[in-house]
Order: sequence, then structure tokens, then C-alpha cells
Amino acid sequence: MSQPRPLNEVYAHRRQAMVLEQLAPRGITDTRVLAAMARVPREEYVSSQEREMAYCDGALPIGREQTISQPYTVAFMCQAAQLQPGDRVLEIGTGSGYGAAVLAQLAGEVHTIERIEELAKNAQENLARCGYHNVTVHLGDGTLGLPPQSPFNAIMVTAGATGLPEAYRQQLADGGRIVIPIGVDRRSQTMFCFTRRGDQWESQSLGGFAFVPLIGQGAMSFPDR
Ligand code: SAM
Repeated sequence: MSQPRPLNEVYAHRRQAMVLEQLAPRGITDTRVLAAMARVPREEYVSSQEREMAYCDGALPIGREQTISQPYTVAFMCQAAQLQPGDRVLEIGTGSGYGAAVLAQLAGEVHTIERIEELAKNAQENLARCGYHNVTVHLGDGTLGLPPQSPFNAIMVTAGATGLPEAYRQQLADGGRIVIPIGVDRRSQTMFCFTRRGDQWESQSLGGFAFVPLIGQGAMSFPDR
């Protein structure tokens, strides 16, 4: 009788399938991003009840009404941010820590900030268990950025904003990129990439996504419906 495959092999196989079937055919072409997505074990960032679904093509609940983003969304944002190995990156919305783990494969130093203490603590544990030493998890209001650690080469916002918080402009290095989903509807946003060229800003609209809301002092409020 044949032995069942060890679970880590099963997940590695599913991760490879995710890259080949969910990411590459939908326009993720950056080979560093594809390699990072093939390396980070998403099953380590979800609860034991969700593990079986770790490589499904969607977001999953992580508690406190928050989600771990769909793999495609993580890869899309990383590709848009055009990260280089030495970059210093700020991620807003740590959630499970999965996005930070992918960023840690692509950049030199990652700071990630989460407003919900329980999630920040879980994410820190997840990242430590997976052996990341170039990621720091901060607890706080990410709409204010992280002034002491700035400037950043890239800022990646993983919650839906109604506009671009001023703090992000101030904390971005010249040539840096801000990738942020913006929309006045709580359930849908357009992904934007803002690039700083000295005092000039270029903006690029990258299509529709759906995120949980960015909540905080530097966030513009959602219009009442
Ligand atoms: N990047 C995460 C991951 O890989 O699991 C997914 C992020 S989840 C879609 C959005 C997160 O943003 C939530 O955990 C939420 O609590 C957080 N968030 C919302 N507003 C925030 C703020 N002002 N500062 C920090 N985190 C915030």
C-alpha cells in the first residue's frame, strides 16, 4: 500500500500549482515575484481550520473581521512596486504576516504596521516561526506611516483607502513607489501606483480590487450612504 505524501510536500505542490495556474496566466511575469510566491508557505499564515484552503484562489478570514489577501493580489502589488533587493519597504496592514513574508523575499528591509494588537502578535509569531529576520512588525495606526524609519523605497497599502494619506508622500524616497487601493465605495477600489520623481508625482491606475477598509487618523472617512 502506498504511503500518504507528507503534508509539507502536498503544500509545496499546491504552491507550485498556484504559481502556474493562478499567477502566471493572469499577467504576473516578474520572475522574482513568482519565485517569492513559490517559496512562502501560505499555510503558515492561516489558522488550522483554514489550512486546507491555503492555496485557494481567494482571500481567507484571519479573525477580527480581517482577511489574508488573495495570492494574486499580493503578487500583483509586489510586481507593481518593482522592488529591488536592497529596498526598504513599508507595508500598511500586516494582517497575517503573509504579505510581509513575500516582501521580505524581494526587498532588504521590511517594516509592517497593523492596528489590531491580536493580529500584530499572531503575525509576529508566524514570521518568527518562518525565520524572517528582515521584517519588523509594528503595532499602530498605519495611516500615519512610520516617520522614524522613513524614507522608504516603497509603501504598500493592503487596506482600501479613500485617498492617498499625506504621510506616505512625505515618507517616500525619491524614485519610490506607493501601491495603494483607493475608492469611495467600501467594497471596491482601484489600485494605483504613485511614483515620486523629485517634486513630481506620476500616477498609474492598475484596475479594480476589493479590500477591507483602511481605518485611522490619516485616512479620509468614507462618505455616508
Ligand atoms: N497584508 C495582510 C496579509 O498578508 O495577511 C492582509 C491585510 S488585510 C487585507 C488589511 C489589514 O489592514 C487588516 O489586518 C487591518 O486590520 C489592517 N488595517 C486597516 N487599517 C489600518 C491602519 N490604519 N493601520 C494599520 N493596519 C490597518
